[in-house]
Amino acid sequence: MFLITVNQILVPILVLAITGFIFGVLIAILSKVFYVEVDNRVETVTEMLPGYNCGACGKPGCSAMANAIVNEGVPVSNCKPIKQDQAELIREFLRKQEETANS
Ligand code: SF4
Repeated sequence: MFLITVNQILVPILVLAITGFIFGVLIAILSKVFYVEVDNRVETVTEMLPGYNCGACGKPGCSAMANAIVNEGVPVSNCKPIKQDQAELIREFLRKQEETANS
């Protein structure tokens, strides 16, 4: 009455395995096609900012502010809660990056 044939077990397993393989390949291809290059300077400056994501700088968060500092020349002092030594480290980092780019 409750007999399950081998096909009733193998077919769903096979369908799931093939579907998983197809989507795996598709994801691998799409990750190459839509690869977005990350600016390491923005990542570094983001880590050097306080990380409060308070928005006091007028940006939606610290990573947006880091992007503005690196790519738009927004002054580090726009970040209100940053300490002077932190701000100076960021300025020094950006100075070194610019010197490296110019040499
Ligand atoms: S003011 Fe400073 S701590 Fe606040 S979100 Fe902007 S960068 Fe981050």
